[in-house]
Amino acid sequence: MTVQQKIIVAEGPAPSAATAAFLAADHRLFIGGRWVEAAEGGQLDVENPATGEIVARVPAGTAADIDAAVAAARQAFDHGPWSRMTPSERGRLVWKLADLLETHADEFAEIDSIDNGKPVTDARAVDVAFSCELLRYMAGWSTKIHGQTIALSSSAPFHAYTLREPVGVVGQIVPWNFPLMMAVWKVAPALAAGCTIVLKPAEQTPLSALRLAQLVEEAGFPAGVFNVVTGLGETAGAALAAHPDVDKVAFTGSTEVGKLILGAARGNLKKVSLELGGKSPVIVFPDADLDVALAGAASAIFYNMGQCCTAGSRLYVHRKVYDRLMAGMAAEAARLPVGVGLDPATRIGPLVSAEQLARVSGYIEAGQREGATVLTGGRRIGDRGFFLEPTVLTGTTPGMSVVREEIFGPVVCAMPFDDDDIDAIVAEANSSIYGLAASLYTRDLSKAHTVARRLKAGTIGVNVHHVVDVALPFGGFKQSGWGREMGYAAIELYTETKSIAVAL
Ligand code: NAP
Ligand code: MG
Repeated sequence: MTVQQKIIVAEGPAPSAATAAFLAADHRLFIGGRWVEAAEGGQLDVENPATGEIVARVPAGTAADIDAAVAAARQAFDHGPWSRMTPSERGRLVWKLADLLETHADEFAEIDSIDNGKPVTDARAVDVAFSCELLRYMAGWSTKIHGQTIALSSSAPFHAYTLREPVGVVGQIVPWNFPLMMAVWKVAPALAAGCTIVLKPAEQTPLSALRLAQLVEEAGFPAGVFNVVTGLGETAGAALAAHPDVDKVAFTGSTEVGKLILGAARGNLKKVSLELGGKSPVIVFPDADLDVALAGAASAIFYNMGQCCTAGSRLYVHRKVYDRLMAGMAAEAARLPVGVGLDPATRIGPLVSAEQLARVSGYIEAGQREGATVLTGGRRIGDRGFFLEPTVLTGTTPGMSVVREEIFGPVVCAMPFDDDDIDAIVAEANSSIYGLAASLYTRDLSKAHTVARRLKAGTIGVNVHHVVDVALPFGGFKQSGWGREMGYAAIELYTETKSIAVAL
């Protein structure tokens, strides 16, 4: 079955004057409260993936810039007014940042849409809205971080208690799939906890992090609390992960680079948290509400062009409902309007880069070579920008690369199962090196909870796939990562426990 995709708007509307002015501005690194050129003077082109055009240039920061940023963050942490602020003052600054972000929400949505390709409607409703929500949620924690008093087992009398202290200077390295939101996932709890930050955004999508730094400055955070160094992963990123004066590195990205981060962190044994890749299963039982299951399975893989760490890329459907669900997936793939992200009607934008288009297309070809069938999609759309048809592969088997490896594009492998043998389907769903997310669709309460308990993944959705909330711990089992973001779990990532015992 092939589906004719149409690009609804070739050019897309022009961005607002504010966004256009920001794009055209002279972009600098934000270090120690000042806007500076990269030490070695290099620059990176920033591309609009809907057109392939260069929309801005940002500094290519290197190890020397990371040194300067870490020194500024160290100074601010050890000696600056930041560490003397009360929790309430800190919380109010974080809340103020949320207010500023909300004021400029449309601009941030446009910037991420132009930079990443994503629909501006999604960027506004999800990326920016969630970022505001998370900043406010974490601002609330600022005043609620505390230790405990502890009764010791010693026969001598003691007064013993714990303190939770900020971990110190934090290096944060983020990917391109949700540029602003991935940054805020890390920045919000670190600020709430009282840490200082050096942020390295992805080379493909550095713009919203630089705009965020302007708001940090406007909000009145002391110099050096938040620093942004744009640049390449193998230079700026690697220098940050290896830096001896960084106390913790927080990384979101591929499992492959996550392992490099671990190696780099070894020198000073800095704390490490990792949010890595996934190959998340979606399981549809025969008693499921099929409309709900279809909506869930489609958004699991087509939302954000499948460039989600939690993408539901392995779809297991009971044979009784398989044909109906597949027809629905194909219809959904055809129905979603494809276009330039800035068009508010767009639901499917381009992939982030020519490289990503080639990578995802390569997987589709490999799948076909290994015996899979393209039920729908599979082809590039047009020759301008990096658009790809939402794709459903059938006839896939467990050994195929498309079933085992993270594709990070709008490509799902659909596989029927035959009976209600829970052991078999759970074993199949769990047969992955990853364990980030999973979802299952059923009306049977007992089956829902039984399967949810047995799936090896950090987040399980029942009758829903993408479940992310500011209060709900998020992170991976197995090679999907270390640590949990969101909720109080994120505060724990950015604090150390100190035990104090007073001999009475
Ligand atoms: P990536 O290549 O791993 O890059 C992530 C970040 O790490 C980028 O800022 C990158 O810089 C930097 N980097 C690259 N090499 C580095 C090195 N040697 N040392 C230090 N930093 C380095 O991942 P991506 O391609 O941007 O994003 C896609 C991947 O991220 C997918 O695998 C996806 O599953 C994963 N992801 C996971 C989550 C989660 O929460 N679990 C969320 C989003 C994405 P450059 O931009 O210069 O390469
Ligand atoms: Mg870009």
